[in-house]
Amino acid sequence: MLMTIRHFTLAAALLAASLHSHGFDLQGHRGARALTPENTLPSFAQALGIGVTTLELDIAITKDGVLVVTHDRALNPDITRGPDGRFIDAPGPAVSSLSFAEVARYDVGRIKPGTNYARQFSDQKAIDGTRIPRLADLFALVKKSGNDQVRFAIETKLSPLAPQDTLAPEAFARAVVAAIREAGMASRSSVLSFDWRTLQVIQREAPEIPTVYLTIQRGNGDNIGVDKAEPSPWTAGLRYSDYRSVPKMIKAAGGHTWSAFHLDLTAEKVKEAQALGLQVLAWTVNEPARMAAVFDMGVNGIVTDRPDLLREEMKRRGMALPAPTPVTP
Ligand code: MG
Repeated sequence: MLMTIRHFTLAAALLAASLHSHGFDLQGHRGARALTPENTLPSFAQALGIGVTTLELDIAITKDGVLVVTHDRALNPDITRGPDGRFIDAPGPAVSSLSFAEVARYDVGRIKPGTNYARQFSDQKAIDGTRIPRLADLFALVKKSGNDQVRFAIETKLSPLAPQDTLAPEAFARAVVAAIREAGMASRSSVLSFDWRTLQVIQREAPEIPTVYLTIQRGNGDNIGVDKAEPSPWTAGLRYSDYRSVPKMIKAAGGHTWSAFHLDLTAEKVKEAQALGLQVLAWTVNEPARMAAVFDMGVNGIVTDRPDLLREEMKRRGMALPAPTPVTP
């Protein structure tokens, strides 16, 4: 019992220290997705070269238990080519059905021409031959860059609606904690998810790692379900109608940070969350005018595919900028 209390107190002190020292959180989404192929070492190197506070990335786990950095539970046909050089057919294979050696045969260095995704990121420079990296490869890249400040926002990619695609939340979260601790990066990492079940495991197993509760309150991805009688399957059993407020739900869940889809946010909601002691992030903001509007809501950080543009806005506001640390991937 005494050990538990001491552990918890230490974790709380570390959290408070990390919050105090970091200021505004400039997060490079999947590295610098609008400029370089997402979730790849070249994209993280680009973000490091631009200068960010945090690298945001997504995690899947292979059949042989390797944590790899990729956004989708199944390989994404919009960005993935097989060993034959052709874009894969939909649906792609689940990452959990492949060994790491098999994952490493795919090329994710180019968006498929003619797709909506290619139109959305028309400035992205292709880098043919780029592979899906392991989380360990990303940690090694950052060590190589000499950057001992940049943080890692590590998203667990699983869905309560597709349990067959991934490990269960408990095993998934434990694997993420083990990888973070093995790399000695617990003090520089947070774990985020739309599936709040994993965050509950992180809080229990690794109280030194801050948890970030992702939300979107519109469209097919809605993970809150404001109008639903039953709890959303995404929210670890919490029901919106018991709280009538997303920040209150996250506070009750024991979360550290609320990361909201930027169009769901208002200045009032940001204030409410901060009054509860939560940090507030907005994702994913790529247009300069919108960046300015979100800044004006008083958020603690912004997640962006264009960290270069966000730095410009920070400069205009006279804010301190994270140091660029260029590195060759
Ligand atoms: Mg993500």
